[in-house]
Parts: sequence; C-alpha cells; structure tokens
Amino acid sequence: MHLDDYIPVVGASVVEDLRLIANKLKGCRVVNVNSTPVGGGVAEILSRMIPLLKELGLEARWDVIRGGDRFFGITKKIHNGLHGTAVEISAEDEAVYWETQELNAKTLDLKADMIFIHDPQPAGLIRWKPAIGGRWMWRCHVDVSAPDRGVWGFLEPVVEQYDAAVFSAPSFSQQLGIRQGLIAPSIDPLSDKNKDLPQEFIDSTLDQFQISRDRPIVTQISRFDRLKDPAGVMEAYRLVKPYIDCQLVLAGGSASDDPEGAGVLAELRERAKGDGDIHILELPPTSHLEINALQRASTVILQKSIREGFGLTVSEGLWKAKPVIAGAVGGIPLQITHKYSGLLTHSVEGTAYWLKQVLQSPEFAKRLGENGREHVRDNFLLTRHLMDYLLLFLSLDRAKEDIVYL
Ligand code: UDP
Repeated sequence: MHLDDYIPVVGASVVEDLRLIANKLKGCRVVNVNSTPVGGGVAEILSRMIPLLKELGLEARWDVIRGGDRFFGITKKIHNGLHGTAVEISAEDEAVYWETQELNAKTLDLKADMIFIHDPQPAGLIRWKPAIGGRWMWRCHVDVSAPDRGVWGFLEPVVEQYDAAVFSAPSFSQQLGIRQGLIAPSIDPLSDKNKDLPQEFIDSTLDQFQISRDRPIVTQISRFDRLKDPAGVMEAYRLVKPYIDCQLVLAGGSASDDPEGAGVLAELRERAKGDGDIHILELPPTSHLEINALQRASTVILQKSIREGFGLTVSEGLWKAKPVIAGAVGGIPLQITHKYSGLLTHSVEGTAYWLKQVLQSPEFAKRLGENGREHVRDNFLLTRHLMDYLLLFLSLDRAKEDIVYL
C-alpha cells in the first residue's frame, strides 16, 4: 500500500501535507515497542503505520518484548488495574516485571532517535534510557482516568521518566509532570480489515461459518475478554430473540499477551449450548478478511464493553456504515454521538432496547451508519493518525525551536 492510494479516500491535500512534514524528519530513527505482534488494536495500528512511516523517509522499526506466562499474567493484572479493577501487585510481581524488562533491555535494539513504547508491558524499559539515549515517548492506549491506586502508584514513577506521554483522549489521562499529547488511534481504510469486499466473498464467509443470509445478523468482534462483556452481549441477544428472529455472532481470538481468553471462551460456549443461532467463532489472528466480511454482513454491530481503550472495532463497524451499539466507555463516546452516529448504552437492557429499535427500523439504522462513516472519515483514519505522530516527533526533535519552518 502506498500513500497515493489514500488520495481517493481522504483527498490529495492530506497526503501532500504528510510529505511536507515528513521532509523535516527524513532519516529519523523511530523504534516502536509493544507486547504482541498480533491480536488487539495496538498491533493492528503498528502493522499499518510502520510501512507508511518508511515510505515517508523515516527509519521506522517495530519490536515486541518477550516474557513468560508469569510476566503476562502480571501485566494483565496491571492492565485491568489501570482500567479500574482492584488488583494486588505483590513485591514478587514487581520483581518479575523488572527482571523481564532487564532481559528485554539487553536483547532489543533500542538505539534510535525516538523510542516509542506502547502500554504498560514494556514501559519499564525507560530505566535504560540513560544508557540508550534518544527521546522516549510512552503511548498509553488504555483509559487510565480511574486506575487502581496501587497499580498507578507502581506505574506513575515509571511514566514520569519519559519525555512525553500520549493518551487517546483527554479524559483518559492523568496529571503528570511530563509533556502530554492527545492522539486518537485510527483504522486503515485500505487494509484487509477495512477495504471494500466483493459480495461473493462476504457470502462465502457466511457459508463457511454456517451463518444464514436470510435473517438479521448481530455481531460483536472482540478478544474474549470479560471487559468486552461477551456474556452481556449474549444476554441482550436473548432479550431480543423472542421478538425478532436474529442470529448472534461473537467472533474473536486471543492475543499472546492476554492469558484470560481461553477461560472466557469456554464459559461462553457453555452458555450458548442449545441455541444454534449463536455462532461463537474462534478466529486465528490472520482473519482480517473474514472479520471484514463478518462486519459487512452484519445488520448491527455491538461493542458492549464495560471498560475500553479506544475501541477500534467501533471505528471498523462505523466505517462499514453499520449501525453500532456500544458501551459508553473509554474512547467509544468520541466515535459515537448517541442517536446520530450510533447508539451508546450502559446496560444489558439498554443494549437490548436499542438492538430491537435498530432491527425494526432499517431507515434509522442506515442513517446512523452513514453518519458514523463520515465521522470516521474525518477523524479516525490512518492518515490523520500519521500526521499527529509526525507532528509529535517533530516537536520532540526540535524541542528547542519555537517555530519549525516547513
Ligand atoms: N481483532 C482481530 N481478531 C480478533 C479480535 C479482534 O483482528 O479475534 C481486531 C479488531 O478487528 C480490532 C482490534 O483487533 O482491529 C481490536 O481493537 P480494539 O481497540 O477494539 O480492542 P483491544 O483488543 O485493543 O482491546
């Protein structure tokens, strides 16, 4: 995929601006570090962002920290704690966290001008900043507005050592003594996950999963994670089912940094027993085209999260001009204006209520989807995200200059 391919979607001036800014950053070495090569939103964005940064003349790289099950168990606790769940991080947990950071600091090549660390899992690498040099940014993809005190007490002094922290939305951030940037994530309209698909492919995907084309399809695409509330989705579907004969698709996989997925999946399978219209699909991480097809085949997309980072699946659904019903948490309200570009809910009953409304009013559903698509075009496509990153790099690279002349 090349930058020029985006012109038909976003217009030529957007791409021209990107080239203009990137000219000031030619050869700039940027290394990204996160904790999983596939699965989840961060991996999704990095896989699209890196090639475009390279095309723009930056030396962009992406590395993944390695750790054992114990480490990822601890970082999942930290993740849940940042989202506000009460968790306990023991002294032993802290020791394992730091041992893993040290191991990675020794094995990863972090020598670069910009070191861009994503989320808490590799955040501790900052300890090696004095030896490695460069400008360090911590990119926080989760909502840390009301974290567990103990977890934030552990992470805050780590984050404060960075040159800057970047959050997805103003409401996600914390008071910090370092520079803060606000950059919303994005989806790539040209990726396999989001590009237009021929109807035959969509139909054959439904056939492959034995989903009927003749009845409404209600879909949630998510990792099998309690905070995405797949059980609540099933309850909402069950409230609607006696009135409208619809099908439910819960499709997702697991990420290598999320040890809880298998348990959640097993519970869901148990709950779904006896209802052939509930399709629980465990998808391999490479299923981008299948997810795209499932989203496009859906009558309604749900994202009934209880806590959420930004919620890329919402952007993905809206971009496909689908009515999206989603929990009013994390970054979701940035994407959905209630009753205009989607529907925001706070409970199983609320989700069921709007699901019924949307299934019964195709015109209303269509309007929500169309408004949602335009909102995503204006705000949440990869080109806007790329521009924000370039400006951030430039501001750190030229920290001493008041004005950068283009
Ligand atoms: N996704 C995927 N396969 C799955 C589940 C999710 O490719 O089995 C993708 C999904 O389409 C979206 C991203 O992973 O692009 C999830 O991002 P989101 O911000 O919704 O949630 P996160 O998993 O980062 O909490």
